[in-house]
Amino acid sequence: MSPLPLSERRSNGASTGARVALLAMLLLPVPALAQEVALSFDDGLDPRETAQAAAWNQAILTALAAADVHAILFACGKRVDSPQGLELVRAWGRAGHEIANHTYTHPNFNSPGTSLAAFTADVGRDAALLQGLPGWTPRLRFPYLKEGDTPDKRDGMRRWLQEHGYASGAVSIDASDWYYDERYAHWRARHPREDPARFRQAYLEHLWDRARYYDALSQRVLGRSAAYVLLLHTRRINAEFLPDVIAMFRARGWRIISPAQAYADPLYSMQPATLPAGESILWALAAQAGVQGLRYPAEDEVYEKPILDRLGF
Ligand SMILES: [Zn+2]
Repeated sequence: MSPLPLSERRSNGASTGARVALLAMLLLPVPALAQEVALSFDDGLDPRETAQAAAWNQAILTALAAADVHAILFACGKRVDSPQGLELVRAWGRAGHEIANHTYTHPNFNSPGTSLAAFTADVGRDAALLQGLPGWTPRLRFPYLKEGDTPDKRDGMRRWLQEHGYASGAVSIDASDWYYDERYAHWRARHPREDPARFRQAYLEHLWDRARYYDALSQRVLGRSAAYVLLLHTRRINAEFLPDVIAMFRARGWRIISPAQAYADPLYSMQPATLPAGESILWALAAQAGVQGLRYPAEDEVYEKPILDRLGF
């Protein structure tokens, strides 16, 4: 149902009181129409390589708890396979978040050198490491969102996931937080005492731009907004700015939902027939539908570099 324009309502003789009440109703938030997004975090942190690993991990968990948000961590085995690393992953499970599979060695499944057998063995190795942890959920997030460069690999992996009880770990809102994180680190090193507000604003605008882009793509291919899953990483930029990310989405009328709620959307059971397979599932459906002008690879840094260069970061 779409409301009549106010100008038409005014001409139909309604009393002033009724018009004021109607106007008040139109200005109220409409929860049924609010977009919904779940937060997913890739990779995990390696305390053997990153001195701030525990601090960043805790900052992200503190931000999620303060905002009452349940998220999902797709942990990459080689990063977290140490007693200290697994302790950081365990903290997510203990806090009520889901822990899921991101492979052990982070291979690119679209590389001709990565066979189906090698890839499934890598997924199995990550599961063996993580499946005893609290919050373990059999979902797979493909590294780089690459789901296979041949029909045999793509379809073989889909069969393997089904046979092993895996549910979707797909992304619907793809973004480049990893690139903003790299640029932030460089800028911070050169400006250690400067207020990061301008950079934070650029980062928030990037995420908002990507959210609106994929929302428009969803309208185009599904005819509706999906229950979105946003791709983020366990990196410094989110350790510092996640409270602002959550506040921004909420201030703009989006609801933050749990990964389980988002993945209940039938969108995530769809299996686009694209090759190479992967990217955001909405991107793949749009590509399958012949939508022109899609970025490929969807979130390469080349799209964001001119923006950050222009802002002087
Ligand atoms: Zn990754």
